[in-house]
Amino acid sequence: MTIDAVLFDIGDTLVGRAGGHRSIVEEAGALGVVVAEADAAEVWEAIQARARTPEEIAKGRDLSPEAHREAWTALYAAADVFVDGLGRALYEREVDPARWVPYTDTEPTLRALHGAGVPMGIVSDTGWDYRLVLERFGWLDLFDAVVLSYEHGAAKPAPALFTTACAQLGRDADRVLMVGDNPLTDGGAIAVGLQVLLLPAVAPGSRRGFDTVLRLVDGLVDGRL
Ligand SMILES: [Mg+2]
Repeated sequence: MTIDAVLFDIGDTLVGRAGGHRSIVEEAGALGVVVAEADAAEVWEAIQARARTPEEIAKGRDLSPEAHREAWTALYAAADVFVDGLGRALYEREVDPARWVPYTDTEPTLRALHGAGVPMGIVSDTGWDYRLVLERFGWLDLFDAVVLSYEHGAAKPAPALFTTACAQLGRDADRVLMVGDNPLTDGGAIAVGLQVLLLPAVAPGSRRGFDTVLRLVDGLVDGRL
């Protein structure tokens, strides 16, 4: 097995939603309502879990900015049980580049791969320009391919997104590792011959576990973080 190029998902892979469930506490507070941490966590986790279901993904939320706004506003409306307007406030966070934070090992991993000359790309399901997040952290120039679903009229697991990214990296699919968090979407890379690493969920701002990526890339055995 030779892997010498890497594709990354963005959301919940390279970056997570800042504050997690505390977004509910903070935005409710801005609307003058106090929400207990435990109550916020319960509703937040339910929203995020629902967002990951096949039914929600099938709504095509990542095919256009309008579809994204409609689907995610409906999801976040579950938080309106605390105060009217909270769901809309949470959606504005969802599309605010400043509300996405790296995991502790994201930047060292990207720098290590780039420093070793490993071609890297992005394949992301999104209804807004996630490049703004990459730019914010100075990462955009590290990537040789940025494939965003809404710019291609298709969402993962559509094969075209993965094959387009591989072509932009100049690599055959069987030499490319797709790193993501969602078996339904990122896992689709398997169907077009890529190898896939799915990382389990962790809290925003914690360690993502990218040392596995460095171990899998050929010739990077010593590429420690
Ligand atoms: Mg993701």
